[in-house]
Amino acid sequence: MSTPLVTNIQRYSIHDGDGIRTTVFFKGCTMACKWCHNPETQEFSAEPMRNGDRCGGCGRCAEVCPEHAISLENGISVTDRESCTRCGTCIDECYNDARSISGRAYPVKELVELLVKDRMHWEASGGGVTLSGGEVMAQDMDYITDLMKRLHAKGHSINIDTCGFAPYENYEKVLPYANVFLYDVKAINDEVHKANTGVSNKLILENLAKLGKAGARIYLRMPLISGLNDSTDDMLRVIDFLRENSVPILQVNLLPYHELGQDKLEKLGKARHDTNFAPPSNEHLNELVQLFKQNGYQNTRIGG
Ligand code: SF4
Ligand code: SF4
Repeated sequence: MSTPLVTNIQRYSIHDGDGIRTTVFFKGCTMACKWCHNPETQEFSAEPMRNGDRCGGCGRCAEVCPEHAISLENGISVTDRESCTRCGTCIDECYNDARSISGRAYPVKELVELLVKDRMHWEASGGGVTLSGGEVMAQDMDYITDLMKRLHAKGHSINIDTCGFAPYENYEKVLPYANVFLYDVKAINDEVHKANTGVSNKLILENLAKLGKAGARIYLRMPLISGLNDSTDDMLRVIDFLRENSVPILQVNLLPYHELGQDKLEKLGKARHDTNFAPPSNEHLNELVQLFKQNGYQNTRIGG
């Protein structure tokens, strides 16, 4: 069993399923969405990050870096990602707390002990743990199932937040322990899907249909970008797919695009995406909510 990396453990989350939840973001994804708001979770390996707003340009990090991977450009430190060995030496040297390594491995037992510290909040609110990413279903499944079994044995709710692009066998392994799948459909038009995520939506839709047949509890989540994947026709195609495949959906979440990911790309030392994405207007979002409700999905809302 290999231990996946975690980029963040977010406590008191109210956007990752029912109640107050503790969300674990695993590092590594099978897709590369241009609108990803957690780009530090796309690569499976650890990555150096530098917060340009905090960097004062003192150069201490560059002096101690054993690989000479850091230089100063325009008064702030810049890391050569190829030369950096992720040793972490520069982190302690930065008094401004501007440097970090994204990605930490937690043995299962340690992670469970950390998570259950929040159980009082879960019990009071009907919440629990949400496993997210990145793509949790593309991690080491022995680790993920072990983690879920331990939490499940203690009676805790576990949600799986997934983009759907992973072998169906992985979903079968977690089915007995998952309360809800927060299941993303990024674009129903496959050409749009390929152009903006790097992969076809065929496997994602197949897995969604299989999960529905297997009796999984599913909340459908759709990131919406104006003019790209948010047309009324696109949404009707989603509804048709759900009907044709008898996929029971307990909740529909329409997630308007936001720009958070672009700043993180800069912190990772990666180029910002050259896109002009924008969220749908409030008027259009409300029309889509009504469209889903008129088609039987009364539990449709804007946001997670
Ligand atoms: S040590 Fe910190 S503040 Fe100084 S140059 Fe490096 S990142 Fe910037
Ligand atoms: S993590 Fe190590 S190799 Fe990478 S920039 Fe910092 S000191 Fe250099």
